[in-house]
Amino acid sequence: MVTEPGLPPLGLYVHLPWCVRKCPYCDFNSHELKSELPGAEYVQALLRDLEGDLPLVWGRVVSSIYLGGGTPSLFDAGLVGELLAGIRARVDLAPTAEITLEANPGTVERDSFTAYREAGVNRVSLGAQSFDADLLRAIGRIHGPDEIHRSLESLARAGLDDFNVDLMFGLPGQGVTQALEDVRLALTARPAHLSHYQLTLEPNTAFAAVPPPLPDDETGWDMQQVSAELLVASGFEHYEVSAWCRPGRESRHNTNYWTYGDYLGIGAGAHAKLTLPARSEVRRYAKTRHPRRYLAGDRVALDRAVPPADRVFEYFLGALRLRRGFTLQHFSSRTGLDPDRVTQPLSRALSDGLLEPRDDGFRPTELGWRFCNDLQALFLPAEADRAST
Ligand code: SF4
Repeated sequence: MVTEPGLPPLGLYVHLPWCVRKCPYCDFNSHELKSELPGAEYVQALLRDLEGDLPLVWGRVVSSIYLGGGTPSLFDAGLVGELLAGIRARVDLAPTAEITLEANPGTVERDSFTAYREAGVNRVSLGAQSFDADLLRAIGRIHGPDEIHRSLESLARAGLDDFNVDLMFGLPGQGVTQALEDVRLALTARPAHLSHYQLTLEPNTAFAAVPPPLPDDETGWDMQQVSAELLVASGFEHYEVSAWCRPGRESRHNTNYWTYGDYLGIGAGAHAKLTLPARSEVRRYAKTRHPRRYLAGDRVALDRAVPPADRVFEYFLGALRLRRGFTLQHFSSRTGLDPDRVTQPLSRALSDGLLEPRDDGFRPTELGWRFCNDLQALFLPAEADRAST
């Protein structure tokens, strides 16, 4: 990634908040599209939003763009092209920038990916979730296996080989064999990247209110284990708790999140994190969540400095998800904090067998990855620590 001395790489996240229908497990800021998509109006609002953020990142190079949602593929290639051209005109975009579009089967027409590619997209993340028609219905998706295959064919026709397939496991009534079959079918399309994550019941979702019958923890673990064996045998590397890729095909945008990099966020409900070296500060920002208010010009909902104790936890929230782990030098350079600050939780994680030394740093053990939440919790700010910051 391109980076300036002393500053982390800078990504740009763009939130496109509408979906055809709200999935019952979804806690993202996504809104059912009840009338015509206000596409052109929203693109203009995004570009105004970006202009408002530019003073925060003068002189910096943007290394990656991620169009997420919601369902960004509801925006046709013309609108995506207009958006990307507007972004290029306003920021210094690295010539090798990774530009990802999230797309959902059922919203992608026959040759859409060729048109998206011509518009500037060079990576796609396809929300397949499962290849099983009954399971897709059980989790309220609008698509079936046929729409997934059509999207994969459209990707191949477009020559977009840098794509991710999103798969979920632990679905209502799913067995280990079905979970493995989903991975096998995804691999036949030769993706560069596979995100494989377990369905969880999030607060304030339809599934949390009326929980479906989910496989137990042991079955979920078995699904993960058999899928891992197949992925390893197929040449994939497990580089992040839920992410697999062919060698060298990590998601650069997401890796920047996990390594406490900087990112701008534009769009309804988008979040940002920036390092402001002049004041030795890390700040977080959020934009107004509701699309209607956002479109009306109500832009910034939050702008706050991150206290040092929170920076420690935020750093480890991402770094402990990575197979390669971290070094203390990297910790200091990204947080601006002294490594002594984490001596205690580090020793505890090592003695509990959740972390192990590697080269000049540390990485999670298999046990640490399996119980990643417990490992991350060791780096939570103690109340006393908070009080002194
Ligand atoms: S398509 Fe994705 S973002 Fe939209 S409701 Fe379903 S899970 Fe949420």
